[in-house]
Amino acid sequence: MEMSPEEMEKKKEMVISKCICNSCPSWVECGEKGGFCFQTIGKSSCINEKKGCVCGGCPVYAEMDLQNEYYCIQGSEKEQKMAK
Ligand code: SF4
Ligand code: SF4
Repeated sequence: MEMSPEEMEKKKEMVISKCICNSCPSWVECGEKGGFCFQTIGKSSCINEKKGCVCGGCPVYAEMDLQNEYYCIQGSEKEQKMAK
């Protein structure tokens, strides 16, 4: 199902507001807001070491039926699905 640009923006804000990335051992503080699982946000520009991923415990993970991890390094859910 395609979302309108307005819906995408709303969803993006929802994802960022619920994101728990900043409590993750892999998190590096560089002014980013997280939400890396969402396709319009994309990878982190400063996180590059896998020290654990807490996405599985994030409300967004269940809500959006996510199946991957390390979105900050490996790219969004959509990106990782397409690469498989
Ligand atoms: S699933 Fe991971 S990347 Fe996506 S909002 Fe939650 S903690 Fe952030
Ligand atoms: S995407 Fe996963 S590994 Fe990356 S910061 Fe968020 S919780 Fe941690």
